[in-house]
Amino acid sequence: MLSFYSTNNHSLKVTLKEAVLCGQAPDGGLLMPDKTPQLDPALLKDFSNLSLTEISCEIAKTWLDHETISFSDLKKIVEKSISFDAPIIRLTGDIAVLELFHGPTLSFKDFGARFMARLIEHYNSSEEKDLHILVATSGDTGSAVAQAFLDIPAIQVIILYPKGKISTIQEKQLTTVGHNVTALEIEGTFDDCQDLVKKAFRDPELRKSKRLTSANSINIARIIPQTFYYFYAFSRLKESPFVVSIPCGNYGNLTAALFAKKMGLPIERIVAATNINDAFPKYLKTGVFIPQPSQPTLSNAIDIGNPNNFKRIENLFGGAFQEVQRAIYGISFTDQQTTQAIQELYRSNHYLMDPHGAVAYLGLLSYQKNCRNTQGVFLETAHPAKFQDVVEPLVGKKINMPQSLKKTLAKEKCALLLPNNYEKFKEYLLS
Ligand SMILES: *Cc1c(COP(=O)(O)O)cnc(C)c1O
Repeated sequence: MLSFYSTNNHSLKVTLKEAVLCGQAPDGGLLMPDKTPQLDPALLKDFSNLSLTEISCEIAKTWLDHETISFSDLKKIVEKSISFDAPIIRLTGDIAVLELFHGPTLSFKDFGARFMARLIEHYNSSEEKDLHILVATSGDTGSAVAQAFLDIPAIQVIILYPKGKISTIQEKQLTTVGHNVTALEIEGTFDDCQDLVKKAFRDPELRKSKRLTSANSINIARIIPQTFYYFYAFSRLKESPFVVSIPCGNYGNLTAALFAKKMGLPIERIVAATNINDAFPKYLKTGVFIPQPSQPTLSNAIDIGNPNNFKRIENLFGGAFQEVQRAIYGISFTDQQTTQAIQELYRSNHYLMDPHGAVAYLGLLSYQKNCRNTQGVFLETAHPAKFQDVVEPLVGKKINMPQSLKKTLAKEKCALLLPNNYEKFKEYLLS
């Protein structure tokens, strides 16, 4: 049976259920599968006839823990959560883009958040007390999590975001959900929001009266569904060797690609593309990982100086640095390069990228310059309309807003303003 060990202590093991409900190991480590699930290579050949949802079911099955969930329940979870498309568009002879922004909040985080929400619903169904999910967000995570848990019974979602420090679109997406989702607008920074959440988890009095969990990106239930679309991309492109280029922030998406490769997907190399927050590309050069304070850029969802999946990546290679180098090609780009790429691809192919997709596109170009004749796909992780302010002036035209976003923008903001003060936050939670 599949179990999960802590990156701090390999003999500390938990089930899938515990991993999903707790998010991290009891000793604070990250959870890793004790063996990587394997996909039958014969199945891979048949994938070209299956839909994204059907492929997702096959992959999910390999992660199954029969003692805590049946296949038919897991299949329902996949069908409910991976219920939107991920089109692949060929842009040139050797470059394709995988669009991961067709979910309800228009970012790829819908894949992870929706699957995790349904899995938590499944595991929570036997509990008597409501589960409270606390999330601090600097943007996309909060809205994906809010939408994912909307109207799931016995679950309350509380989202903390820094007042005045997220975009108008992001704020609307967070504060207009309603029902079992509450947005708290904190008079502080993102770090202050995160500290409030962390304090709550450590507070024995709170823990006694409320069931609390987090829904942040280290939960393995967010990584698993991100393996699905790599198999899907391969089934449609049918090119081998093939390379995927990923815009990386916390490196969850990259970790999922490494899992997919280990499960049997013939990915030749993975490009870890990022902005000037380049601790990981530097590590790939030197072998030394030095976290940095994060610096703001146009691709703000990846402004992360200390990626929280680093330990997972290290663990996947058992600390063998040369193998990490062989599997991953790392590179970083400035905002100027990013905006130029958006303009150039729009001019040449009439394809409009958001700043994150542009970073991944640049990563792929750089890789292909060194390794010709490699087929590549880059990930477009957010709809360009979410970055309207950046993108519109670059291409000199109005972007078509997706209908769902128009609706969200027309709704009234509903948030509770709180000072950056733990006692006030706690009072709210206990009320
Ligand atoms: C979160 C996010 C990323 C980074 O994903 P990680 O898994 O944290 O590396 C990239 N692009 C967008 C649009 C995001 O919201």
